[in-house]
Amino acid sequence: MIVNAMSIDVEDYFHVSVFDGIVPRTQWDSMESRVVRNTERLLDIFDEFEVHSTFFVLGWVGERHPQLVRTIANRGHEVASHGYAHRLVYDQTRSAFRDDVRRAKALLEDAAGRRVTGYRAPSYSITPRSLWALDVLIEEGYAYDSSIFPIRHDRYGISVSDRRPYRIERLGRSIIEVPASTTRIGPINCPVAGGGYFRILPYFWTRWGINRVNTLERHPAIFYLHPWEVDPEQPRLHAGRLGRFRHYFNLQGTEARLRRLLSDFRFDTVQKFVTEARLELSQNSRFALSLPYSF
Ligand SMILES: [Zn+2]
Repeated sequence: MIVNAMSIDVEDYFHVSVFDGIVPRTQWDSMESRVVRNTERLLDIFDEFEVHSTFFVLGWVGERHPQLVRTIANRGHEVASHGYAHRLVYDQTRSAFRDDVRRAKALLEDAAGRRVTGYRAPSYSITPRSLWALDVLIEEGYAYDSSIFPIRHDRYGISVSDRRPYRIERLGRSIIEVPASTTRIGPINCPVAGGGYFRILPYFWTRWGINRVNTLERHPAIFYLHPWEVDPEQPRLHAGRLGRFRHYFNLQGTEARLRRLLSDFRFDTVQKFVTEARLELSQNSRFALSLPYSF
């Protein structure tokens, strides 16, 4: 049975990009925090199924809850970085982005007591507008990135990018890109492995999609979820209709669904997957060679 990669983006319900402008950053500290309890619930579920996961922790959360970061590491999981302040990459300057990922890496490494080598951008916001971020990540010592979603979406995605993990070489150094999983139906890449797609679409969609990646492509799937997605009691915030639907739909059913997923498939950390796949990864995929930027 193929071992897939499990990942959790550790942030609170009010950090989510859909609430940008609705909960200003200046109010974050006064909001009821539920991230520790929700993450611990996920840790308990993973223990139950003997699964290790990668946790992309938001630096802002790690700074306020270093013990949570330490607990994640001590329970055998990988601590990785979700940046510091949950700002979309394409809304930042290059130097602001550098400060953000450097600050997150330093404080997460301090709390976890081990090296942090993986990064995932808020809302998968490495897009054609922000490909320069890959160079910054290499310079800041990240070994892999999981921010380029090979789909079409209103806020993120590069639909022509490779669906499978690949290596991007830049001036003698490299970074490995690990995209969240999709399956191809005709000319379209369809997301099959996580977040809203996992909560909103019926469970058999995810099971079918991961099965398809595992059996047809003989490749591991990369799955992702957030701690707030197993918390149906979280305070309701006001967003637009689409945002509310994407954030709140089926929160009450997600934990049971996750348990089903963990029974149906095997999972381990993204780091494990990257380490094992390193030699087989195609060097400079067709997409990476045509990256429309240079320096
Ligand atoms: Zn996030």
